[in-house]
Amino acid sequence: MGLVILGGMVVTPGGVVAGGLRVDGGVLREIGPDVTAAPGDQVVDAGGCHVLPGGVDPHCHVMADPAAASQAAAMGGTTTILSFSSPEHGEGPSSALRRARDVVAGGASAVDVGLHAACYGPDELLEDEVAELVALGADALKVFLAYPELGIMASGLGLYRAMRFAARAGLRVQVHCEDGELIEALVEEAAAAGRRSLRTFAEVRPAVAEELAVARALAFAALTGADCYLPHLSTGGALEAVRALRAAAGATAGGGDAGGGRAAPTGGRVTAEACIHHVVLDEGAYGTPAGEDWLVAPPLRSASDVAAVGAALADGTVDTVGSDHSQDPTAVDLRISSSAGSCYGIAGIGARLPVLLTWGAGAGVPIERLVQLLSSGPADAFGYPSKGRLEPGSDGDVVVWDASERSVLDPVTGPDGSERSRSAGWSPYAGWELAGRVRFVCARGVPLVVEGAWVGPGDGGQLIEPSRST
Ligand SMILES: [Zn+2]
Repeated sequence: MGLVILGGMVVTPGGVVAGGLRVDGGVLREIGPDVTAAPGDQVVDAGGCHVLPGGVDPHCHVMADPAAASQAAAMGGTTTILSFSSPEHGEGPSSALRRARDVVAGGASAVDVGLHAACYGPDELLEDEVAELVALGADALKVFLAYPELGIMASGLGLYRAMRFAARAGLRVQVHCEDGELIEALVEEAAAAGRRSLRTFAEVRPAVAEELAVARALAFAALTGADCYLPHLSTGGALEAVRALRAAAGATAGGGDAGGGRAAPTGGRVTAEACIHHVVLDEGAYGTPAGEDWLVAPPLRSASDVAAVGAALADGTVDTVGSDHSQDPTAVDLRISSSAGSCYGIAGIGARLPVLLTWGAGAGVPIERLVQLLSSGPADAFGYPSKGRLEPGSDGDVVVWDASERSVLDPVTGPDGSERSRSAGWSPYAGWELAGRVRFVCARGVPLVVEGAWVGPGDGGQLIEPSRST
């Protein structure tokens, strides 16, 4: 007895195949026009719909409440979430990773979870601890070039060591690219001038702060040989730096790459991520009543940067699209805060897939490319070969997307969860019109969403670890 999806347009790595697929024992066994149901099979009619691999969100912070976030993710067609650990003040990355592993392994998530090891004290990082992160199944080490005010910013020495240690251990490094010292100078200046609007938050984190940090991260990666993953790139200049580096390495641009990043001149790989909010919104949002909902770092950018991000999604410069779903918003620096309690940190773990499919339909980007950005690109980037693609042997994570039916993203019943609050599930995309609807979602062959309604168990998600073979 298996799960059989019939009559759809199945988006596979080789293109769109008319027909169906079969999942047995949690694994995708068969795809194509010849798939038929056997007695006892559970049958899903996907007539007229696209059948997609479950989404893989490469960027979220959900350890405060993985249950709520994972259900919101699945409602929006995302069946694998790659979350950062959340170190406590003064806690090292391996201790935080252990705690996160225990939470996930205890059945806290509805979908599978892989873990990125956040490092909040990069200048004290030891090589032994990096090796320990690998042994604990981390798929990346994350360091920050911003946030001196939070005490987590890496110095040049810290960045160099982290990358060197990670390169030796075979662990990829994620670098939050904003120049924290420049931002601090701009905060001081804005505070002295009494500027404290929502726009001030964006003005003290300008595009050049991101571009300086990207240049630094890429230079350090080239020197150390580290594989470098650049989260939430949001400016034309940052994306151009990635393009130029790949051109120098002789790599071809284009959407066909399945390697999760392209080789840098030194042999380390560089992978570029964009986040969904930087694809669909510009800084004009900070002038609207809902502007507070869109406070995020890096901030929303100019219209020309948004256009550059869209072009980089289409042309293959960007490898993955994340949500940066955050459950622990950070208080805006009080020196420039427009109101008491103003926070940054965005939601969107459930909105990511339907909003990007909607954007892509409008922009004329082929669905195969969108699936790379949403599913196979993130899986490849972090070493999860059984995730993010529909082919025999893959995990049975499947989404049925009906592009013939428009829908509205609803904060109460829709992909992002239960209530409008700063907690997990709240969505600033509430009310957005979608060019389709998530009809059905299963994870490892277990139905989670049927006709848009939650039917699944909330605790079936497994802790996954990256393959070290690639
Ligand atoms: Zn983040």
